[in-house]
Amino acid sequence: MAGTMKTILLAFGMSILGAAQPAPVKQLKPDALRILIVTGGHPHQTTFYSVFEGYDDWMVMTDAQPAALAGSLQRYDVLVFYDLQEQIPEAARKNLKEFVESGKGVVSLHHAIVDFTDWPWWYQEVIGGKFYIKAEPGHPASAAKGNIQMHVRPKSNHPIVRGIPDLHVLDEPYRTMWVRPDVQVILETDNPLANRQVGWVSPYEKSRVVYIQLGHDRHTHLEPGYRSLIRNAVQWAGGRLK
Ligand SMILES: [Zn+2]
Repeated sequence: MAGTMKTILLAFGMSILGAAQPAPVKQLKPDALRILIVTGGHPHQTTFYSVFEGYDDWMVMTDAQPAALAGSLQRYDVLVFYDLQEQIPEAARKNLKEFVESGKGVVSLHHAIVDFTDWPWWYQEVIGGKFYIKAEPGHPASAAKGNIQMHVRPKSNHPIVRGIPDLHVLDEPYRTMWVRPDVQVILETDNPLANRQVGWVSPYEKSRVVYIQLGHDRHTHLEPGYRSLIRNAVQWAGGRLK
């Protein structure tokens, strides 16, 4: 049913008593970070959701566009965008603006860089980058190519990449994206099929905003270094990682 909120509470542990015993459900901590994963508009593999499983300090919910942003977002601490919507309705703009201006967290992943390209405030001020679906005056079209082996290096001493190793992933690099020159780059690559900036923290001051280009399919979703990276990114966006 469209608009149904599905709560994912997949914090199951392995039973030490064997497969016949049901695994106990871990109790969430009372101050668990409230995370909404926003999907819709782009197919994706369900391994994506496994990246967010197993933490007793995360309450993870998911909802698809356009319902995801149709109501107040104030009950969430972090929005994780994994949708692809070029246009955003007026009511959703208002809800999203209220959310980011109140100092919450935003993690934008992979194809969500195409989001809301009819709303310059979003991609210029908040996210700090844009994937050009088609060429526009002054900027060529961006390009994506799937199933490419990428070597991605952490850069800077930002807490999101603290302890993160070099990543060797089979992913889908984007190139000829526009990226704001004053973002703090936290991941980079020399791959000629990719923009050098693979991940960055936006200079937007009212909330914590990070974009990570990786995350095409299970090859990256199941990569331990990527999972640690996303854990850090969400924790930092939620104000839990300094
Ligand atoms: Zn992709």
